[in-house]
Amino acid sequence: MQQHRHPLDHTPPGTAREVVSFHYGELGSARKVYVQASLHADELPGMLVAHHLRQRLQRLEDEGALRAEVVVVPVANPIGLAQSMLRTPQGRFELHSGENFNRHYPALFAAVLRRVEGTLGADAAANARLIRAALREAAAECAAESELASLRKTLLALACDAEVVLDLHCDGESVLHLYAGTAIWEEVEPLARDLGAQATLLASESGDNPFDEACSQTWWQLAAHFGARAAVPMGCVAVTVELRGQADVSHALAEADADALIRYLVRRGLVAGVATPLPPLLGPATPLAGSETVRTPVAGVLVFARAPGEQVAAGEVVAEVVDPLGGGATPLRCGVAGLLYAREPGRFVAAGAGVCKVAGASAFRSGKLLGE
Ligand SMILES: [Zn+2]
Repeated sequence: MQQHRHPLDHTPPGTAREVVSFHYGELGSARKVYVQASLHADELPGMLVAHHLRQRLQRLEDEGALRAEVVVVPVANPIGLAQSMLRTPQGRFELHSGENFNRHYPALFAAVLRRVEGTLGADAAANARLIRAALREAAAECAAESELASLRKTLLALACDAEVVLDLHCDGESVLHLYAGTAIWEEVEPLARDLGAQATLLASESGDNPFDEACSQTWWQLAAHFGARAAVPMGCVAVTVELRGQADVSHALAEADADALIRYLVRRGLVAGVATPLPPLLGPATPLAGSETVRTPVAGVLVFARAPGEQVAAGEVVAEVVDPLGGGATPLRCGVAGLLYAREPGRFVAAGAGVCKVAGASAFRSGKLLGE
């Protein structure tokens, strides 16, 4: 194992921050896996999974069983981890800019295309090597004019040439679910099975460039650009893994999740071993554009009628919001049928707030598909 430290640029004078990466297996190996945790800094289940994953990777490295370089970044957001207001962690948005830490990653397609145009042919493996080299160069070239931009550039540079990228998050209160590109669902499906994901939300463009998409989208954009003129594989399986809810931090869950990730790496030949039989898929992949965020039109005390993991019918009451002065209650109904996969942890809500999410089977939204 090698440990690397990546100092962030543009920290205030007299302060310093860094991203620390742990590299298992052979550095610079032809195959690479990248795992990061807690990009939204106070989403901690992934940080504990990274802790247990590192122990497993060290054991596998000692046994000579790693067939790839595996990079683990257990603390992907040192800026957010230091943010807190009146004892409440603020890990989702940078306090300085108000920007979401998992948005606005550089899109590398144009810079990569400039480098590979005229060099790709019918050999998909050779093309993948050229594209990975171009991705590394393009990521290194990105401007980083703020500390936040420096963090984004550092993470993308570490991940962009990996064939598997796992970004470990969690929701408020939730069952395990995934976000990934529509074009790579076939390769994500075994991961969904190994992890026991109950939902997978697919999109080709979620809007505002979240981290996983910044890693994987260049491949399907290049494939669409070249069409039959060149063989462009889906060279990066990048997945946002929502490891249940914020409070679901336990050794039992984290050890099981770390074991599941290793099983997936064995399945892909990135770790030596015999693949175990695939468990069943617990829930279908559905379009992110079919996911409904149920909102409240009024402020008040939120009382849920349904829990994460339950199937709900279109028009069903999933919660009500009690007016503590007027005495009334406003029922909140979902518009689509599907799995209620996540809900807000807070129980006092402002008017207009999203309170829970339902994975519907049919796309009905367009534009920016991720909530803030
Ligand atoms: Zn998150």
